[in-house]
Amino acid sequence: MSARRFDVAVIGGGMVGAASAILLLQEGFSVALVEGREPATFDESNAVGLRVSALSPGSQSILEASGAWRIIAGRRHCPYRRMQVEESAEGDSAMLEFAAAEFGLERLGTIVENDSVSDALWQVLKARQVAGDPLELYCPAKLERFEAGSESVSLTLDSGDQLTASLVVGADGPRSAVRGFAGIEQQTWHYGQKGIVAVVQGARPNPGVAWQRFMEGGPLAFLPLSDGASSIVWTRPAAEAERLLALDDDAFCEALSEAGEAFAGEIGATGPRASFDLTMRLSEQYAAPRVALVGDAAHVVHPLAGQGVNMGFLDAAALVEVLAGARSQQSEWHDSATLDRALKRYGRWRRSDAELMGRGIHGIRALFTPSVLGPIRRLGLKLVGKSWMAREAFVHRAAGIHADAPALARR
Ligand SMILES: Cc1cc2nc3c(=O)[nH]c(=O)nc-3n(C[C@H](O)[C@H](O)[C@H](O)COP(=O)(O)OP(=O)(O)OC[C@H]3O[C@@H](n4cnc5c(N)ncnc54)[C@H](O)[C@@H]3O)c2cc1C
Repeated sequence: MSARRFDVAVIGGGMVGAASAILLLQEGFSVALVEGREPATFDESNAVGLRVSALSPGSQSILEASGAWRIIAGRRHCPYRRMQVEESAEGDSAMLEFAAAEFGLERLGTIVENDSVSDALWQVLKARQVAGDPLELYCPAKLERFEAGSESVSLTLDSGDQLTASLVVGADGPRSAVRGFAGIEQQTWHYGQKGIVAVVQGARPNPGVAWQRFMEGGPLAFLPLSDGASSIVWTRPAAEAERLLALDDDAFCEALSEAGEAFAGEIGATGPRASFDLTMRLSEQYAAPRVALVGDAAHVVHPLAGQGVNMGFLDAAALVEVLAGARSQQSEWHDSATLDRALKRYGRWRRSDAELMGRGIHGIRALFTPSVLGPIRRLGLKLVGKSWMAREAFVHRAAGIHADAPALARR
């Protein structure tokens, strides 16, 4: 059986891989998308999913350009215009507040269910395939191995399919097989913490505010949902998280009320709960000969800043911008020297941005460990709160519209 030939093989059709495939097609590249699982579907008559993301304005622009946002926007979602970050203990408290209008933004972000984003992206992919775009969807199928040669990469899938491509994009998540085959090392930090997620209803409906309280042991976030409920991410040391997960609903609501009552009032109801081990992973490189990494395959960050998938969408847009730029200067964009230059540019660009964000989040997390004195932390928050420049820099970077963001994000 002869191997089918593509410009790009994207491995992993999660949110970032699916978005990458669409942006590549829009630039005229032929694409094979390989995904190991049936993609998520979304049904609005089901309860709100446990996995939601705070999507930045930059991610929204990228998803608008992909054609997926109009599907997402027609379903339940919750834009938020205000964000509050607070820390209080020992009778002292400090609060940072951000309002979208202050920074000339229409919104600070939008809370969307991950399944809604995935399903919308896959709808766009399938429609483009029907319309005759050069796209092949290998799903469910897993990458088994690949060999990078000087002219192309040969890939073998567990379905028995053989493909060749000029470039392989690893969008295959934290345990990326592509990263492993390419021999790219990662630094990994295990925080010994878990993030508990649940949909909860407080006595006071969420007024459309993303609220986060820093406490010793980890932060607690209430993210607004369109019906006044909140999606929480509650970071606790692993053993305590296990204890909280094992409580019955009433006892869990009582424990959560103690931590979050200041914002939501008494928590009256909770849906099912789940938890995730929290780690930070930063790859030493984001590119190797004929290989690029995007999304969680390249970097995993603590969810306290809600940046993981937002960073992944920026990777996708940056990679396609660099490849399209290389092709506009040199039609033989896939020869080794031209592609190598483009991939190095992509790697430098996105790695420095993601390192800044990842290490910044790591530093904020470290500030809230018991060894750092509460009064010093609160003084720091108060100083940042008083500096408009620091707040503006923070908001623009979190919004994905900073000067160094890809053009699609800054539209
Ligand atoms: C509690 C929590 C809250 C979060 N909140 C936010 C938030 O508010 N905002 C935000 O931006 N981020 C948030 N994140 C992070 C975000 O969820 C991730 O960054 C994002 O899901 C990563 O998407 P991805 O497409 O890169 O990877 P994944 O979602 O891991 O997708 C990888 C895909 O690759 C497929 N795959 C793997 N191996 C193979 C193979 N060999 N062959 C074929 N396919 C393969 C998998 O089946 C999967 O579909 C949060 C994370 C956690 C844990």
